[in-house]
Amino acid sequence: MNYHITTYGCQMNVADSRRLASDLETLGYQPVSRAEDADVIVLNTCVVRQQPEDRAVNRLLSLRPVKEREPEKVIALMGCLVGVRDPTPALSRRFPFVDVLMAPSDPRPLVNYLIERQARELDEESRARQEALQDGRWRLPLRERGKLVSAHLPVVLGCSHACAFCVIPYRRGPERSRPPAEILAEARALVAQGVKEITLLGQIVDRYGLDLPAGKVTLASLLRQLHEIDGLARIRFLTSHPGWITGELLETVAELPKVCEHIEVPVQSGDDGVLRAMKRGYTAAEYRRLVAKIRDVIPRVAIHTDLIVGFPCETEEQFQRTYDLLADLRLDKVHIARYSPRPETLAARKMADDVPAEEKERRRRTLDELQAGIAAEINGRYLGTEVEVLVEEKDKGRWRGRTRGNKLVFLEHDRDLRGRLVNVRIQWAGPWSMQGTAA
Ligand code: SF4
Repeated sequence: MNYHITTYGCQMNVADSRRLASDLETLGYQPVSRAEDADVIVLNTCVVRQQPEDRAVNRLLSLRPVKEREPEKVIALMGCLVGVRDPTPALSRRFPFVDVLMAPSDPRPLVNYLIERQARELDEESRARQEALQDGRWRLPLRERGKLVSAHLPVVLGCSHACAFCVIPYRRGPERSRPPAEILAEARALVAQGVKEITLLGQIVDRYGLDLPAGKVTLASLLRQLHEIDGLARIRFLTSHPGWITGELLETVAELPKVCEHIEVPVQSGDDGVLRAMKRGYTAAEYRRLVAKIRDVIPRVAIHTDLIVGFPCETEEQFQRTYDLLADLRLDKVHIARYSPRPETLAARKMADDVPAEEKERRRRTLDELQAGIAAEINGRYLGTEVEVLVEEKDKGRWRGRTRGNKLVFLEHDRDLRGRLVNVRIQWAGPWSMQGTAA
């Protein structure tokens, strides 16, 4: 019995696929490299933009003849194309050859489907495997066991914000914080299997615990609990929201040695009119003050952000304010996306997608060129200095790892450096990565 999972989209989907792979292996399935060779074929989908949605749908349709040839194969669809609200009728009409639909972060429908199937051929071994699933003995999938150095760990599922452009609340549902005990158990299980760095995930990770019994836990207090885990070298968290980052959280990052000086806080636009239309809930001036505060509280912090260009009604002047904000703040990394209308969102329902595609692309390229210059200048400051790198894996004959500020570093070395913290003297620096030698 074997399985294949194709994962599209964000780190949350990567973590969900890892969880599902672990459950399938506990049920006795082995991973295979080609979907067509698997008994259980899973697509974990993303619809945050039109392009990833089209890729997933095309791949799914390409599996129809496989199912028609071998009807005993199980085809399962997961993630944001499914969403949290029961899409079964619509999706079953659209993809009648799909056996199981799973909402984001919920592998149970497929696991239960396979358990029922196994129940028909129930033998001792299957019974033992099903019991292992119940007792939470979570193990990394075979392919990652003993190899995975850095893992993502969802702590807040869904989002209760309603940014005008974003489909996530409609597909992942309202925000739900996972119980701290469950998170700590999963973190210990990861560290026991060789993981050295854990990145806590949430659409607005700073809101962790706000939906749990009052005052019980916050992201800052969760970081303190995780910090006590022996063998865990580094902790990160993403994604923050300018409206929810607290002074307590920033102080905790500055105080706890294992928590990296790296903050991911999307700004999305540098213009107040566009931010209002996006329903982001802050102004450009407030964002600038937040960046100054983060840099004041956390020395040497690396700040990453997200930006959308070509949002409905964005004028050249408004775009210029985004350009000026980036030029002034000189952030470490910027993910730039062209606006694409997403189904159900306020922007898609109420606002015309009036910025031409070529103009969106011109604005994206303009910001990309600006940021390439800024990133090259920032990374250039590391030349001749030593940085601490957590080495993750070998990549084309070179070891690959990241600094505490999440900067990519390559180095050559004969020894097996996987999972080691290495001091690296930087000899080359470009906008997107650096190279050096072990000091
Ligand atoms: S904060 Fe806004 S952009 Fe982020 S997931 Fe929630 S709705 Fe989407």
